[in-house]
Amino acid sequence: MTKQQDEDKADKRSKAWEIGKVILQEGWIQVKVPVPFSLRWVNSYLLPEESGYTLIDPGLRTEAALGVWLDVMQDLGLVWTDIKRIVLTHQHPDHYGLAGYMQERSGAPVYMTRQAHAYAVRLWGAESSFSEELHALYADHGMPAEHRAAIAENLETFVEMVTPQPTVTYFEAGSSMALGGLEWELIDAPGHAKGQVCFYQKDRQWMICGDQVLPHITPNVSVVPGEGGDPLNDFLVSLEQLKSYEVKLAFPGHRDPFSNFEGRITELQQHHERRLDKMVAMLAEEPRTAYHMCEALFGSRLNGNAHQLRFAMSETLAHLVYLENFGRATSALRDGAYVFAAASS
Ligand SMILES: [Zn+2]
Ligand SMILES: [Zn+2]
Repeated sequence: MTKQQDEDKADKRSKAWEIGKVILQEGWIQVKVPVPFSLRWVNSYLLPEESGYTLIDPGLRTEAALGVWLDVMQDLGLVWTDIKRIVLTHQHPDHYGLAGYMQERSGAPVYMTRQAHAYAVRLWGAESSFSEELHALYADHGMPAEHRAAIAENLETFVEMVTPQPTVTYFEAGSSMALGGLEWELIDAPGHAKGQVCFYQKDRQWMICGDQVLPHITPNVSVVPGEGGDPLNDFLVSLEQLKSYEVKLAFPGHRDPFSNFEGRITELQQHHERRLDKMVAMLAEEPRTAYHMCEALFGSRLNGNAHQLRFAMSETLAHLVYLENFGRATSALRDGAYVFAAASS
């Protein structure tokens, strides 16, 4: 059992796994909104304003999530119009999904970055060809057709969980914004999601960090078709940059607020270094496609879970792209799929 699984087990025995609301300092409220994956919940934060609340990351639109919201609101004596603003750290459905639904009821503006919104539109807009692009990418990298079909089907199930989609007001990294009566710096935090922002409050030394730095969980870093570039490098550069902030308390998108922000970043950096070294060693033994690498790393059990297989495959690809980018691996098209090999040095 890994250290991470140990920690998870300890966590599960504690109250930390209870869905619903937790009162934090200064009237902040953490709402653990259930998600139907192994992550179990996404954190929404309600920040008290002079009147009403700013809501950060409302969650995925499911019956269970809405049920929790209605209970929490009743408990706090809130009505929809008490939500004055909805702020999204990033565009992933577990954070973005309920934004439009809540906007319809509250009339609140929904803030996110232009880049994050562009991705949401690419994924779920009427003209979306994302599923086909992902299908083609995975075919190029050796994934069998039946798994590609299962992933396309799984992606389709997300559409209703992000519907209706919000009308968005843009904010941009590099600017600042008042949230909960405090001034926050918006920091560009790509790698996990292009266009993601973290929010830093320098007097309190607080960081709202979305999914960029999570306790107990390694944030997913994926190759996204059509985006190009090197997302793992973006992620590692961003982590190094976040390390330069003094942080006493971090508010993550999953699990609970935590204090060892810099230490957790170091652990994540080390995780990726180990993973990259392991993959180079595996490629030196035997050249392979990204799909075969994914199976070797994560096990063929993932083939029964389209959601997890997509994350594992895109994460494997992100590492391979990084290795190729830094001259540690090469790839060549063979029999219709790219085969990666360790670079001869
Ligand atoms: Zn995310
Ligand atoms: Zn998330």
